[in-house]
Amino acid sequence: MSIYQTLKSEAEALFPTLVAWRRDFHQHPELGFHEVRTAGIVADHLRELGLEVSTGIGKTGVVAMIENDQVASDAPTVLLRFDMDALPILEQNQASYRSQNDGVMHACGHDGHTAIGMGVAQLLTQRRHTLPGRVKLVFQPAEEGLGGATAMINDGVMNDPKPAAAFGLHLWSRLPLNQVVVQSGPLWASAGKFVLTVQGRGGHGAMPHETVDATLVASQIVVAWQSIVARNVDPAATAVLTVGAFNSGEAYNIISAQATLIGTIRSFDEKVDALLQQRMREMAEGICQAYGATCELTFPGYCAATINSVAGVQLMQTVATEIVGPEQVTQIKPMMVGEDMSEFLNRAPGCFILVGASDPAQPMHSPHHNPTFDFDERMMPTGVALLAGAAVAYLQEHK
Ligand SMILES: [Zn+2]
Ligand SMILES: [Zn+2]
Repeated sequence: MSIYQTLKSEAEALFPTLVAWRRDFHQHPELGFHEVRTAGIVADHLRELGLEVSTGIGKTGVVAMIENDQVASDAPTVLLRFDMDALPILEQNQASYRSQNDGVMHACGHDGHTAIGMGVAQLLTQRRHTLPGRVKLVFQPAEEGLGGATAMINDGVMNDPKPAAAFGLHLWSRLPLNQVVVQSGPLWASAGKFVLTVQGRGGHGAMPHETVDATLVASQIVVAWQSIVARNVDPAATAVLTVGAFNSGEAYNIISAQATLIGTIRSFDEKVDALLQQRMREMAEGICQAYGATCELTFPGYCAATINSVAGVQLMQTVATEIVGPEQVTQIKPMMVGEDMSEFLNRAPGCFILVGASDPAQPMHSPHHNPTFDFDERMMPTGVALLAGAAVAYLQEHK
C-alpha cells in the first residue's frame, strides 16, 4: 500500500472523531480574534499528542511543530494552515449541532478546517519518526477579512524555523463531494477595502450656492470610478471596484457637509491593485478640487490574490491523484473571493486547494456565508489525507 493509501485509510478511521470535533466547534462558534475556546481545544489536543505548542500567536492563533531528534537542523519545514473563525450570522439550520451562540455561525466551514487540522496533527505525529523534516501546524484566527494571517506573521510565525512551502485547503459546498481543485494560476482574488471621506461645506437646502454639496461630489466620484475598470485596466486582466456603502446627509432640507464611500477592490495581480488605488486617488482628488471639496482616501485592509506555485501545484496534483483518483482532480474558473492564505503563500510558495463538500443527495446546499450553510462531513477524511499527504510528499521530495 502506498503511503497515500495508508494515510487515506487512517484518515477514514478518524471519521467519527472528526465529526465529533467539527460539530462541537459548530455548536460553539467564535468570531475572529475571539477563538478562545476553539484555540484551547486545539492546543489541548496538540499537547496530548506530545507536541510543543505556542498559543496567543496573532492574538488567538495556535502553532505546533512536528519533528524528531534525528532531523538535521537544515532539513526543510513545511507549513500547514487551518483557519478557525466563524461569522456574524444568525444560523437558521435546525440540525442538532446548530450554533448555540446566537448571531455567530460557522457559515464558511472553518469548523471543518479546524477539525481537519486536528486530524492531520494526529496522523503526522504518529509518523513523526519517519519524517525527513519538520511540519509547522498553524491554526489561524480571523480569516474573514480581519487580517488573522498578517497578525500571525507579525508575531513571527514565518520564523524559527522559516517554512519553505505552505499548503492549505478550503472545503467548498459548490463542488461535488471529494472533488479536489488543484488550480494552476490564480484561484482567488486579492481583496482590498477602501474608505473615502469627502469633506464639503454644509448649509441650508434652499441656499445651495453657499455650500459645497458632499453628496453631489461623492456621486460624481462613484460614477467616475466606474471608468477605471472600463478604461484603465487592461481588458485581458480582471478587476472589480464595488462601492458597497454610500453615506451622506441626515435631513431633507440640509445640504450634506460630509459623505463617505466604503467598498472593495479585487484583482488577480498586485500591479492591477496598485493601478486601481492610484486612479481612485487621482479621480477623487481631481473631482474634489473641481468642486471645492477635499477628501481622504484610505485602504485599511488588503490581502493578496491566492496564486499557487508551479511546484506546489505539481506536488498537490500527484498527492490528490493518489488519494481521490485522477478523475476527481479538477480546475475551476477563478473567483473574486478573497482569502488570506495568500499571505502565507507569498512567503512560502505552495498550494491552496478546494475540497468538494456538496452532499450528493442535496446538491443545491446553501452557499458559503448563508444562514443555512452546511456541508457534507464525508469530505473531512479526504481533507486530512490530502494535507498530511502534501506534507509527507514535500519533505520526501526535499530531504
Ligand atoms: Zn468565508
Ligand atoms: Zn472561508
